[in-house]
Amino acid sequence: MNSHLEHRAAAAERAGVIPGSRVELQLLTTLKCNLKCSYCSLGVGEVLGSQLQVGYDLDQLERFVATQLPAKEIYVTFYGGEPTLNGDFIAAVMQRLPLFRYQLQTNGTLLDKLPGAVLERLSNILVSIDGGERITDGYRGRGIYRRVLKNIRKVRERVGGSVTARVTWSDADTSFAELDELTENFDYVYFQFVADEKYADDSQAKRQAVLAQLIDRFFASSDAIYPFIPLMGIVRNKILPSRATELYGGMTQCRASSHLLNVMPDGKIFPCPDMMYLPDMQQGDVAGNWLKPSALLPHPDMPCDDCEALPWCRRNCMKNLYLGYVKKDEQYRRNVVEPICELIRFMGREIDRHAPHQWFARLSLPLRRQLTDCEVYEYVEVMP
Ligand code: SF4
Ligand code: SF4
Repeated sequence: MNSHLEHRAAAAERAGVIPGSRVELQLLTTLKCNLKCSYCSLGVGEVLGSQLQVGYDLDQLERFVATQLPAKEIYVTFYGGEPTLNGDFIAAVMQRLPLFRYQLQTNGTLLDKLPGAVLERLSNILVSIDGGERITDGYRGRGIYRRVLKNIRKVRERVGGSVTARVTWSDADTSFAELDELTENFDYVYFQFVADEKYADDSQAKRQAVLAQLIDRFFASSDAIYPFIPLMGIVRNKILPSRATELYGGMTQCRASSHLLNVMPDGKIFPCPDMMYLPDMQQGDVAGNWLKPSALLPHPDMPCDDCEALPWCRRNCMKNLYLGYVKKDEQYRRNVVEPICELIRFMGREIDRHAPHQWFARLSLPLRRQLTDCEVYEYVEVMP
């Protein structure tokens, strides 16, 4: 670790291992998956498929929580691989730790196999989808889109909380219409720009055109919130900038620098689920019962301090910034990180064009609350 990182880590240690009062335990129930999505980030470093069973027991998990996270408000996201392939573990954790809040991130193909007792406890389900039928089936396999939507309709009544589409925006030809259509089947839509070399030629212009349409649609009405989390979050941050920092110790809203603990099936803990192949990133262990601050922290070589978007973006994705500016992967920086930052700044300017403060002033109190306090912000990266 260089001296800057040591300094940051020491500062974080003084502030407590986890800044703030909340912790998200992202429990990976298995690294096995029943689909083969072409862009899966767990494919890097051959993480996918490497651990099929959970290697710690619930006594160890309880002990870890009691010793490392006393007095914290804890919420759990079940993650994988495909977490529903280990539904018994999900049910057992919920039964053992009934005071926690729970979320599930799933590809949706096995949702209908989950028992009602699990579904009713879920505050939110993030269902991975890639856009419309053509694009989703292209990445995930024929028939997946329809199967997932059918499953959602089947379980919807029994889910305790919200159901959110989690879109990895990979294809430059993803249209406004197919993203908009997701609002018919989901309570919220969250999208994230793919961390892959998909930004060449006219693909930036195509994405910008769709973003402009989404933002126009967002501000077209003050009678309802257009439920796209990254738009809601950016608008919220522009109106109430402190919301972009308060849960994260002033660091990234993706939680990887502050309070996101990814627990691999073997119990090892990492701040970012896409970097579990880097031993230097390990920050704890459930069975060994230890925890230290995240090593994925802001660094002086990252460009954010001079960026117009910092007050509301807050360093979108630390993995991208780390690979592009600390590890100096020039190709990744040029072809992935910079184009995504360009899209983020574009979104900020488009939102400003619509006078967000005046729009907010017209909202009813319940709609204001939905925009400022939507629970889904806690479960996702907020920024795209
Ligand atoms: S847009 Fe990029 S450079 Fe600007 S604050 Fe966000 S992550 Fe940092
Ligand atoms: S947004 Fe955060 S958690 Fe997601 S890949 Fe980037 S650093 Fe990791």
